[in-house]
Amino acid sequence: MTLRVGVVGGGQLARMMIAPAVEIGIELCVLAEQDGMAAGLAASAVGDYRDEQTVLDFARTVDVVTFDHEHVPQPVLRALVDAGIAVHPGPDALLYAQDKLLMRARLDELGMPQPDWAAVTDTTGLQRFLDEHGGRAVVKTPRGGYDGKGVRVVETATEADDWFAALAEDARGGALLVEELVDFRRELSQQVARRPSGQIRAYPVVETVQRDGVCAEVIAPAPHLSARLGEVAAEVGTGIAEGLGVTGMLAVEMFETTDDRVLVNELAMRPHNSGHWSQDGAVTGQFEQHLRAVLDLPLGDPSPRQEWAVMVNILGGPQSDALDARFARVMAAHPGVKLHTYGKDPRPGRKVGHVNAVGDDLDDVVYDARAAAAFFEG
Ligand code: ADP
Repeated sequence: MTLRVGVVGGGQLARMMIAPAVEIGIELCVLAEQDGMAAGLAASAVGDYRDEQTVLDFARTVDVVTFDHEHVPQPVLRALVDAGIAVHPGPDALLYAQDKLLMRARLDELGMPQPDWAAVTDTTGLQRFLDEHGGRAVVKTPRGGYDGKGVRVVETATEADDWFAALAEDARGGALLVEELVDFRRELSQQVARRPSGQIRAYPVVETVQRDGVCAEVIAPAPHLSARLGEVAAEVGTGIAEGLGVTGMLAVEMFETTDDRVLVNELAMRPHNSGHWSQDGAVTGQFEQHLRAVLDLPLGDPSPRQEWAVMVNILGGPQSDALDARFARVMAAHPGVKLHTYGKDPRPGRKVGHVNAVGDDLDDVVYDARAAAAFFEG
């Protein structure tokens, strides 16, 4: 009987699981938020992922439930587990991708390298942290942030007044996360895959470049990384996957500091933008690996196929109504570059696709990927 994986969420991450699902002979079913989403090509149901009954009904049609995003509420996740449904990653792990304060506390317990941090509930607490950390810090809302929304660099405690006011109105109460402003050389991402039965494989650590809080470019592996930091990053990734009991793909976003340390920034428990290079650059791409992992099948080899892979995101801009014509021009001009499109209506700043280039000369690969992506600018 064909195995069926159910993905909650119909975005591009679910969409990119479709091709490997077809290849390895499993069925992919998607619970999409609405009609016409990026993953609508798969067998899709449409429904609200916050509604317990909707998600339960969907889950009963598949062998395992996994996710395109981390927003399914804990009570819904727990109801699935209570109903005997296989959920990967499970609620106990996902909690730490949903709430940055819980994540910081748990990673401290696991002894993971992190920025200094504190939970603050008012301006006095925030001012104290600022005074102890050179007068600048990063304030974050623990839940619901993405692409840099919910992250603010502050120099005076009053700059977070609106967030404190929102907390005061929230019946659940809670606190803001404040972190030292890390002096970093660059940002890295370490991905690992882990099966429920324990097998674990680490991808090479990559360099990620963000623009306006959004991932713009990824270079795999991270150029000029010391062997020691590469080992530390892999140890941190596997340590977190095991320590939190993550199943499926885990991405650990990190800072490489100017004094040669790595510090964990945040976690994603699903395929991740920093791993799109692996579709064309690794023996086993992250989307196939995620499917293998959540089905508890033997993991594939995460090694790079060639020396370098570079991924550049394509963001929909004001002019991108002509995307289709541009795809053909990119294909003609860059036959060695792989195009990935998400079937989304272009909107300014919205991720609508990416390109991957691979090869043995980093300058050539960077040039190819950037030149191909540049067709979509402006
Ligand atoms: P999001 O959940 O929106 O992706 P992140 O926590 O990853 O938010 O932060 C977004 C960006 O803000 C990071 O990629 C990094 O560039 C910057 N940033 C976050 N935390 C810190 C920090 N403690 N020190 C310096 N820069 C930070």
